[in-house]
Amino acid sequence: MPYSYDPQNIFAKILRGEIPNDTVLETAYTLAFRDIRPQAPQHVLVIPKGPYVTHDHFCAKASEAEIVDFARTFGRVCELLGVCPGEGGNGFRTIANAGADAVQEVPHFHMHILAGRPLGPMLMRAG
Ligand code: AMP
Repeated sequence: MPYSYDPQNIFAKILRGEIPNDTVLETAYTLAFRDIRPQAPQHVLVIPKGPYVTHDHFCAKASEAEIVDFARTFGRVCELLGVCPGEGGNGFRTIANAGADAVQEVPHFHMHILAGRPLGPMLMRAG
């Protein structure tokens, strides 16, 4: 089934300035802001400004300018957080939930950056 973007999702409202956010970095195509319910000392969400539902949707439909901007902004956010292992940081984990099995809560593509403590194994075994 083709993706259908819900313009009433919470990140769309953030992008329209209808609700506040704690911005880390903003560019023409990308916004990075702190997660409202942090799961680690550093928990930042990086989102494209375009209407993409999941990571695969973004990769398939976004323009090259949007994709390059997203990737570069992601890297700059990691640098700003001081978590890059190649620059003396202690590392980070990236998560992008997509759809029901991944329990995606907000249907606007977002990349979580989690850092600031040992994060344990990649997945908890739930069944
Ligand atoms: P996911 O389950 O991958 O869709 O994650 C959605 C994330 O968005 C969760 O970690 C929420 O805490 C976060 N979130 C929901 N509403 C807001 C908000 N208004 N500002 C910042 N983060 C939010």
